[in-house]
Amino acid sequence: VSMMRLDKLLTEMGEGTRQEVKKLIRKGQVSVNGTIVKIPDQKVNEQTATIRCQGRNVCYEPVVYYMMHKPAGVVSATEDKKEKTVLDLLERPVRTGVFPVGRLDKDTEGLLLLTNDGEFSHRLLSPKKHVDKTYEAVIDGIVGDEDVILFSRGVDIGDDTLTLPAVLKILEVDREKLRSEIAITIQEGRYHQIKRMFQAVGKEVRYLKRIRMGSLILDPQLKKGEVRRLTEEEIARLK
Ligand code: URA
Repeated sequence: VSMMRLDKLLTEMGEGTRQEVKKLIRKGQVSVNGTIVKIPDQKVNEQTATIRCQGRNVCYEPVVYYMMHKPAGVVSATEDKKEKTVLDLLERPVRTGVFPVGRLDKDTEGLLLLTNDGEFSHRLLSPKKHVDKTYEAVIDGIVGDEDVILFSRGVDIGDDTLTLPAVLKILEVDREKLRSEIAITIQEGRYHQIKRMFQAVGKEVRYLKRIRMGSLILDPQLKKGEVRRLTEEEIARLK
């Protein structure tokens, strides 16, 4: 059986720093299978032990996966001196090592995954894997068939290479307000990619929302700022 130090387990599950957790244990605030344990380096079977810390159950999880409906106004980072981050939207305690899988701009909304699984994140973001990401956007300007063709060929956005082909769909055009609603699917995730692609054809992104990453669609039940766990099936499909 695999055994783990009690203080390490609690620290990993976000109950506090190693020192804080040791203190809690020594003060008698932690029980294992119903018995108070005051020894921080006590080994426990992390798969079967029932652990309570300060009156709450703590379940050991090696990896965690969340889907977030990111709102505008928060940054895709784990910490920031000034700005609110996507990690601030997770319910506490937060497992250590959780980070956003890639970035959405501060003003971009929609589907964002968070995990502590580095390999999983790498697979989803690797340029070689070409995982499709679909966005809905409102564009200042009239998006036309010529843009659809340009995007399908790849666009020069000032990088060393053209973007990979993108599928642009025109959903609605308002000729009076000079606004267009579109959906776009890209295979990469370059910095400000969609904004730069529209700039390259003389237009500006007003509003941007990611609705899909690979097999995963943003759950329509999730309101802005809400988070839920991925299901086992969703995780398996993404892997
Ligand atoms: N493209 C952008 O320009 N911004 C995002 O946040 C995502 C894709």
